[in-house]
Amino acid sequence: MNTNREAGARGALNPAQRNGAWDALVTDQWDILVVGGGVTGAGVALDAVTRGLKVALVESRDLASGTSSRSSKLFHGGLRYLEMLDFGLVREALHERDLMLEKLAPHLVTPVPFLYPLKHRVWERPYVGAGLLLYDVLAGRSPLPRHRHLTRQQALRRAPALRSSAFTGALQYYDAATDDARHTMMLARTAAAYGACVLTSTEVTGLVIEDAHVVGAHVCDVESGRIGSVRARVVVGCTGVWSDFLHEMAGVPSPYHVRASKGVHLLVPRDRIESSTGLILRTEKSVLFVIPWGEHWVVGTTDTPWDLSLEHPAATRADIDYILDHVNEVLLQPLTDDDIVGVYVGLRPLLAPANSDAQLTTTLSREHQVAHPVPGLVTVAGGKYTTYRVMAVDTIDAAATDLPLVVPVSVTEDVPLLGATGYRATRNREAALAARFDVPLEAVSRMVGRYGGLVEEVLQPTLADTTLAEAVPGAPQYLMAEMRYGVTHEGALHLDDLLARRTRISVDTPHRGVESAPAVAALVAPLLGWSAEQEQEEVTAYLQRVERERASQALPTDDVAQSVRSQAPDSRPLATDREAL
Ligand SMILES: Cc1cc2nc3c(=O)[nH]c(=O)nc-3n(C[C@H](O)[C@H](O)[C@H](O)COP(=O)(O)OP(=O)(O)OC[C@H]3O[C@@H](n4cnc5c(N)ncnc54)[C@H](O)[C@@H]3O)c2cc1C
Repeated sequence: MNTNREAGARGALNPAQRNGAWDALVTDQWDILVVGGGVTGAGVALDAVTRGLKVALVESRDLASGTSSRSSKLFHGGLRYLEMLDFGLVREALHERDLMLEKLAPHLVTPVPFLYPLKHRVWERPYVGAGLLLYDVLAGRSPLPRHRHLTRQQALRRAPALRSSAFTGALQYYDAATDDARHTMMLARTAAAYGACVLTSTEVTGLVIEDAHVVGAHVCDVESGRIGSVRARVVVGCTGVWSDFLHEMAGVPSPYHVRASKGVHLLVPRDRIESSTGLILRTEKSVLFVIPWGEHWVVGTTDTPWDLSLEHPAATRADIDYILDHVNEVLLQPLTDDDIVGVYVGLRPLLAPANSDAQLTTTLSREHQVAHPVPGLVTVAGGKYTTYRVMAVDTIDAAATDLPLVVPVSVTEDVPLLGATGYRATRNREAALAARFDVPLEAVSRMVGRYGGLVEEVLQPTLADTTLAEAVPGAPQYLMAEMRYGVTHEGALHLDDLLARRTRISVDTPHRGVESAPAVAALVAPLLGWSAEQEQEEVTAYLQRVERERASQALPTDDVAQSVRSQAPDSRPLATDREAL
């Protein structure tokens, strides 16, 4: 048996660990059972396990497969929350941003400069300038530079791609960005490294309730179909846009209602927008970001109510046009469809009063709510990616009241994520590593930004099998060794886990992973125990997913786009119907 602890102090997640973890899940008594492996659930598991609690985390699909791989990827205070006068949220978020940059995840979170072009003479500069001054003040002592006022000429030097007639001057300020899916996975691995039992493809299908107390949950292994029951003193629901289902399972009225709001992003190559800085553009309802992200710009987002399937939301032609139209307002060379490399879409879990049918999701709260609707059940929803750690603290504080022991205060402010330790030294050793493993320096450099101090663990197998040092077919920015590592250490169980979340091949290559899928499937098939038939099924399912996504993105409305997107086979067919509320 290979449990998390036996799989190594580094929190490796893999098929052998998963088997052992299932046995432990259904036999042990847990203090906390976390439901949901997005950033909130992974953060809650880390908070709980580092307070000395016995913790299991189950995720029905893949880590970060819900909203947490589909965000704008910013650790930020949120300039527009300043406008909503939500200073507490902004201060808290800026503190978290800086904590990630300096201490908890310096390998995964990087500073990003943003240019705010001004359109209106006279009033706009003092208004935005006062806002950014307040932003800096709320950040306090920060590792990021403070904001600066720029003339139009100074702004054009930083962003020659801007059309000079589209703005009168600009301000420069800083925030930070991450690869959200990798950050969430590393968070879950860190929890596993401290002893949490982490299982993906494990769906909670019901709650065990005795004498009006929740005492555990029924689970189904989505891979094998086996079922079991988990005994836990507190079940903690971190299920994002699926929160109402957990309340329904408990038979209690929802203490809050979660409204889904759709947000779409496009990826375009870096050379299509000549700029050394990101952009933030005001739109009629919100803001649009142009964020430097590896070899691409991430451009988005939209914010529209979503009442259709929560499982695989679809982007429409209208969403794409909205983004292109807004960014093209300021660009000298407009972006066209031909520039779009990738498209992704996510659902924000926004808190609304239980009886709200507000149509404008831009006005709903970005703050989080922790509820304790019945003994033994705590749920948390809302919030922002940036504030996941604070959400986790509040959630475990609430859960602690149901535990028959004194629970220490949270220590996650002092718990760096896996890969953070040794990161800066590893950066300095890039050339030595490139020589030792005989891989290009730029490959090592990119990998240090994904694995931090763990990069040698990823490269080690290339010494025995030099083909692993080769680039992934169709995706030269990744090595085959990363695919292997995705399975042996990062919990990938399906092809789309590797192509969409461990790497971003599904959005950062023009073929969206179609050219990479067969070779990657062939590499990982023996590691995942796939038969030749299963290997072919994985490839076919992936190709169909890409084809359906492309088709849906040509359609005008949510309902037709969604019906086309949902025709793609699901690599993890769930046991329960999460659409039927
Ligand atoms: C377009 C967009 C842009 C955004 N940009 C930013 C940004 O730049 N910065 C920022 O701070 N925030 C941003 N956010 C918000 C942020 O992404 C979310 O608040 C955050 O990711 C929510 O994480 P979560 O863990 O609560 O939900 P999720 O990531 O959705 O996780 C919930 C998980 O629960 C699992 N689950 C559900 N039911 C069950 C069950 N029965 N059994 C087991 N598992 C279950 C799901 O499979 C899912 O993986 C953005 C959101 C969107 C949509």
